[in-house]
Amino acid sequence: MREKIKQIEAAALEAIGGAQSVQSLDDAGVRFLGKKSEFMELLKSLGALTPEARPGVGALINEVKDKLENAIRAKKIVLLQAAQHQKIEAEKIDVTMPGKGIRRGRAHPISQVMAEAKHIFFRLGYELAEGPDIESDHYNFDGLNIPPHHPSRDMWSTLFVEGNLLLRTHTSPVQIRVMEKRKPPLAIIAPGRVYRRDSDATHSSVFHQLEGFLVDNKVTFGDLKGTLTEFLRQMFGKEKKVRFRPSFFPFTEPSAEVDVECVMCDGKGCRLCKNTGWLEILGSGMIDPNVFSGVGYDPEKFTGFAFGMGIERIAMLKYGVDNIRLFFENDLRFLEQF
Ligand SMILES: [Zn+2]
Repeated sequence: MREKIKQIEAAALEAIGGAQSVQSLDDAGVRFLGKKSEFMELLKSLGALTPEARPGVGALINEVKDKLENAIRAKKIVLLQAAQHQKIEAEKIDVTMPGKGIRRGRAHPISQVMAEAKHIFFRLGYELAEGPDIESDHYNFDGLNIPPHHPSRDMWSTLFVEGNLLLRTHTSPVQIRVMEKRKPPLAIIAPGRVYRRDSDATHSSVFHQLEGFLVDNKVTFGDLKGTLTEFLRQMFGKEKKVRFRPSFFPFTEPSAEVDVECVMCDGKGCRLCKNTGWLEILGSGMIDPNVFSGVGYDPEKFTGFAFGMGIERIAMLKYGVDNIRLFFENDLRFLEQF
């Protein structure tokens, strides 16, 4: 019997020592010390021994049982530590791995076109001026040779605030504000938001304009044509033709609408240009002597030209966008294309 106990002990120690995982260690425990194990069978058969032999064998069985249980406990600690170590190894941060890229933002198409327009004029020697979005009647209309009740006020569907305050309908008031404060020579651009009471596929009640003007001793209509032709070629392409058509604005005389050759059909005629081959881009003209008188300039001494353009319209033509609302919906799928 003692022989049998020693055999079981040896087999059990070997199984415990060789266990590669907590699972196989637990299996070994069940196999050698479990209720149905050979070892427990031996314990039950103690009763068959002589009373003299019983205590000695009983003591041996208990001794071996303790020994095996201790061996299992010790092996378990080793295996758990190894498992944890392995886990840490596997999770170790590799600092040489490339990082996750951060999605880059980009400027809104309106901001991009505005920046491009501004930089063309900066290169031509113009400086920047700004004015408030809420304007007085005086700067938005009177100062620009548009007296109260003048029918041309209907050209702008004005949004009134209160009293004589309104949301500026164009960036032209900045002309008056600058000229009231400073003397020529002046070469100014005034970008900003403007507001009107209309809204459809090509008109928004809020949009952006870029106004510009040049005042000096001998500014001519030739200077106006040269400057705007240069601007439009830089904006739409060197090869584009530009034309000037007589028009009317209360604050310029003579006035001209400026067209650029159609960006879609190169002048052959298409849906975008309504088969004319031309796209209307900006309004311009020689500053009316009445405007100069209003700011205290001598119209005999100074001449100048002014122009204004809608930035959304330029962006729509440049990028082939057919609905102005897309610029204001902030849909990333749209914005990411620019
Ligand atoms: Zn066309």
